[in-house]
Amino acid sequence: MPTYAEAHRRSLHEREAFWTEKAALIDWNTPFESVLDYDRPPFARWFVGGRTNLCHNAVDRHLAARGDQAALIFISTETGAHQTYSYRELADEVNRFAAILKAQGVGRGDRVLIYMPMISEAVFAMLATVRIGAIHSVVFGGFAAASLATRIDDARPKVMITADAGMRGGKTVPYKHLVDEALRLARHPPGKVIIVDRKLDPAMTRVAGRDLDYARLAAEHEGAKVPCVWLEASEPSYILYTSGTTGNPKGVQRDTGGYAVALAASMRDIFCVAPGETMFTTSDIGWVVGHSYIVYAPLINGSTTILYEGLPIRPDPGIWWQIVAEHKVRTMFSSPTAIRVLKKQDPAYMKKFDLASLRYLFLAGEPLDEPTARWASDSLGVPIVDHYWQTESGWPILSAQPGIEDTPRKFGSPSFPVVGYDVRLLHEMTGEEVGTGEKGVLAIVPPLPPGCMTTVWGDDERFVKTYFSTIPGRQVYSTFDWATRDADGYYFVLGRTDDVINVAGHRLGTREIEEAVQAHAGIAEVAVVGVADPLKGQIPVAFAVVKDPARVASAEGAAKMRREVMDTVDRELGAIGRPGAVHFVSLLPKTRSGKLLRRSIQALAEGRDPGDLTTIEDPSALEQIRQALAGK
Ligand code: AMP
Repeated sequence: MPTYAEAHRRSLHEREAFWTEKAALIDWNTPFESVLDYDRPPFARWFVGGRTNLCHNAVDRHLAARGDQAALIFISTETGAHQTYSYRELADEVNRFAAILKAQGVGRGDRVLIYMPMISEAVFAMLATVRIGAIHSVVFGGFAAASLATRIDDARPKVMITADAGMRGGKTVPYKHLVDEALRLARHPPGKVIIVDRKLDPAMTRVAGRDLDYARLAAEHEGAKVPCVWLEASEPSYILYTSGTTGNPKGVQRDTGGYAVALAASMRDIFCVAPGETMFTTSDIGWVVGHSYIVYAPLINGSTTILYEGLPIRPDPGIWWQIVAEHKVRTMFSSPTAIRVLKKQDPAYMKKFDLASLRYLFLAGEPLDEPTARWASDSLGVPIVDHYWQTESGWPILSAQPGIEDTPRKFGSPSFPVVGYDVRLLHEMTGEEVGTGEKGVLAIVPPLPPGCMTTVWGDDERFVKTYFSTIPGRQVYSTFDWATRDADGYYFVLGRTDDVINVAGHRLGTREIEEAVQAHAGIAEVAVVGVADPLKGQIPVAFAVVKDPARVASAEGAAKMRREVMDTVDRELGAIGRPGAVHFVSLLPKTRSGKLLRRSIQALAEGRDPGDLTTIEDPSALEQIRQALAGK
């Protein structure tokens, strides 16, 4: 067994040999000619010339040895559904869905937009899309029609797949209705919409000629077999949008071969799930964690994956542990917010179940506070592995890698750089490496390892400009996170360097929320900042200037306006972006050159010192923020 340090060194200094070994974890239809083409930095092409297919590796490859083994277990505590698909049954479903897509004219390189709740058909749709060499763009169901329309126009899908509705906390959440609205707003709507009708929304309407019923199509294509399209390793598999500092989300583009190899390696080196064992990831397919660790990685690895629709506390807070016990889950992957929610419940729920199968609880997506980590560790009696990554990376950047070496973990730290990542902490102004204990920008020296984003969809220039041009003097990838490293080499992530906030593990751009607030005709200007929250990590708080101050002069007027602003955000962006509070002021604190002093606003909202104010144009603006926060 190599030590972690040796494995990490090899991954960077004997790159070819290292990744050639890892590439043997997946099937190749045509072997690759070279491990890496890095002739055009920072664009990296991994496993050049190799031909493979994500769906083949996730499904077909396992049919001979594990055709009858459970591949996908779908559990909905909202509808009561509980269905297991063996690898063979999964293959049948995916082939049939691929035939449906092909019949709609979808082919290699075409985009398919998936806007679906957490149901099996969403997984079939993703796998069917990559099977035929098309590119999926899954949009999280919590995003509103306007956000969906922006993503439609950027990806220009040929077909969209949706469902009539999802369910959350016993309430029906319409999906198709939102799709209709988004298609009205979009400039480049697709010609066809395939609808999985769960019969949850009796009010759903259909557009003749455009909307197709999945059940009918499925009956037509019963028993269909569709061969996999072998893609060159660097051909795209999917686009996944993520927030940044502008109001315009970026389409993170993922390749095919590098992603499959990275995920396969991560299941062994990091998550320690063997083929035939079960992984339970509690994210949503609309997020990167869902793409990688609900769908692709467990299946590529020949494991069983659990797809869960529902809340962690319904029908009672024991539900996740019941699932772990019933399905002998080996590794669970969740978020700190979910664990904080469970921590507030009666611990007896956890003790009710036999959790002997569980070996690890991995947590990611946001900073993991020590009390939460300790509580989970004490209650579950298994190691809690804090690990750090991003939509862009597609798989962990910093993590303990117990499959390589079981290094001790420190609370508050996602441990060490993952194999393949040349992680550095750099001074934001000089670009020099910072010393032990000093705060620096967490950066990655390119080439980015296999599995990471290869570009911004349709915008190579934006990829280089956004990610590789912010550290002075060198072309390195910025994660836009601050971090420190202690004397033992453990990393500690301190928060974002940009105006991105993290609400319950979900990344939101403050600029995006500001644009949504400003869609309200009565708002002249607004500043949105992330404020520390004991449950969700951060929540957005808005400070708005109204065009007509008379509208918010009375308490009732202000309350009405507040509600309207929140409704506007729900409509424009989705409820995930809804500010926790909206305060009205007549002036926002800005520098003399007109730049918003967000850090100072945020500091005041968190009860901290607002910092250096020498550049402020009008100090009374901060006084207004103080008063608004004090409820005056
Ligand atoms: P997303 O791309 O939406 O998954 O968000 C990625 C961001 O979440 C990172 O850039 C970090 O700011 C934050 N993040 C993810 N995992 C962790 C972690 N383990 N500790 C601290 N922050 C994290």
